[in-house]
Amino acid sequence: MTVTEGKDVQSDLKLSADVVVIGSGCGGATIAKELAQAGADVIMVERGGYYTTARGDFDQRADNMLARIDGGRGLDTSPNAEIALMYGNCVGGASVHYWGDSWRLPKDRADLWKKQGLSGHGHDVLEPIFDAIEKDLNIHVHGPEYYNRMNQLFDIGAEKLGWGIEPVPQARRNCTGSGHCYQGCSYDAKQSMAITYVPAFLEAGGRLFADVEVEQITLDNNGAANGVDCVVIDRETAKPSGRAIRIDAKIVILAAGGFTSPVIWLRSALPNRSGQVGRNFLCNPNPALYGVFDEDIYMWTNVPAATGTKDFRLPEYNAAGDYVEGGYLLHPNQLQPEILGAVLPGIGEEFQDLMQGLPRIGGAVAWIDDEIGGKIYLDGSGQPVYEYKLQGVDLLKMRDAMKKEAQLLFAAGAKFCILPDAAGTRINSPDDIALLDKVDIENGAVLHGAPHPAGTLKMGDDPKTSVVASTHEAHEVPNLFVADPSVFPSGPSVDPSEIIMAFSVIA
Ligand SMILES: Cc1cc2nc3c(=O)[nH]c(=O)nc-3n(C[C@H](O)[C@H](O)[C@H](O)COP(=O)(O)OP(=O)(O)OC[C@H]3O[C@@H](n4cnc5c(N)ncnc54)[C@H](O)[C@@H]3O)c2cc1C
Ligand code: SF4
Repeated sequence: MTVTEGKDVQSDLKLSADVVVIGSGCGGATIAKELAQAGADVIMVERGGYYTTARGDFDQRADNMLARIDGGRGLDTSPNAEIALMYGNCVGGASVHYWGDSWRLPKDRADLWKKQGLSGHGHDVLEPIFDAIEKDLNIHVHGPEYYNRMNQLFDIGAEKLGWGIEPVPQARRNCTGSGHCYQGCSYDAKQSMAITYVPAFLEAGGRLFADVEVEQITLDNNGAANGVDCVVIDRETAKPSGRAIRIDAKIVILAAGGFTSPVIWLRSALPNRSGQVGRNFLCNPNPALYGVFDEDIYMWTNVPAATGTKDFRLPEYNAAGDYVEGGYLLHPNQLQPEILGAVLPGIGEEFQDLMQGLPRIGGAVAWIDDEIGGKIYLDGSGQPVYEYKLQGVDLLKMRDAMKKEAQLLFAAGAKFCILPDAAGTRINSPDDIALLDKVDIENGAVLHGAPHPAGTLKMGDDPKTSVVASTHEAHEVPNLFVADPSVFPSGPSVDPSEIIMAFSVIA
């Protein structure tokens, strides 16, 4: 097993391999493992650090772990502060801090993607791949012992409202219910890539370089990808250490995640005749609402979202084509006390009261299946700009989701609800829910989490309207393949990790 960390690299290196994979998240680790097990000589390069429970790297402290495993320490936003860019920066990528919710691509969405130009990724192709992934990651529905009080209240509220309740399949093994999924699991229970497909890749002879950032993909004289230029990152300062690594490879696989793969493409000045690189930037923005209850909830205990409702996954339109409701998944929310304290608004005595009653605060969160994409591009100094504006039907979905969250929290017994906006808007009774139609949630008035980036290197069979072919190979760059959600033509309508892995198996 070969893991080279930044501190191990004391001089510039020149390496070669059959395949170099950029990124070690769900997309990169899955394809790297598949290729190494098939006998290829594979190097996987990861910008972030290599962290293990054996070395005691996971200390369950939100502040420490944000610095270790989260990109930008969890502080990056779009320029208008409407979305928080949530991504991993470590071996295993975002799967190290994810919640473990694991969905298959719904058949209606696989059919839609076919209509949008994809081939070879249909429902029948994907189903057996999902079976295998679910076996590998022990994906299963949890029993009631894993429901924290917020999960129980979610079901109580949903039942009162007549909504369908659907347990969320979870990627866990021997979970202790510590509630620290977002900080990375200290018990190796959550089946992140770091403890599943990355070790399988290493066992199959793969070589992993951590703390190594790919600066550019290079091309040969015929315009085909032939390797990558990298810099070694000093983990303490998060800056280049001064060492460089050149990797020659017959195949380059770009799997740096939905926020970063288009950035590497643009920085490498790769061809973009379709004009689609960086366009169609989708991110599943997350409107969240908090409820104050009479009883202790301790939302930070046990697994985050063992339950939820899929009743609103697909949007409904009336006969005139106007939006009515839906277009999102709805779940119980979970935040650790440090982060909950930071996102809740307020000052002075009122805020002090709120903090003293922190255990009694619960919440609900939605993943919006956004349709109107933003744009990722480079500014004059080569830094990425994540342009994203809530608008049109996406804005209607956000407001509808917040109203459903309020309905649910009140039905579950909340005394009042709090919107995490700068003004600290309170919804004092179900009669006030209509306020959520008017309150400002744009232009940074509320910072919405954006954990599921996708769409900016769109897949399709037509090179005029897409960046990569259904084989995952770039239309205009032979030997360059993309294996992450950048290839999704539109949102998957559910959490994407299992779908990203399945697409990587096909790639
Ligand atoms: C808080 C949170 C909770 C989530 N919960 C769920 C959930 O419950 N279920 C679900 O399905 N999804 C969930 N997600 C989303 C899911 O985790 C991600 O969609 C998925 O893990 C992304 O995989 P990926 O391989 O596309 O990208 P990533 O995991 O981002 O992997 C890309 C990797 O590439 C590395 N990289 C980037 N640039 C470079 C470079 N230049 N050189 C070298 N390496 C580079 C990055 O450091 C990163 O490790 C959650 C996300 C967040 C933020
Ligand atoms: S809740 Fe389970 S999976 Fe999540 S961090 Fe705790 S032990 Fe790990």
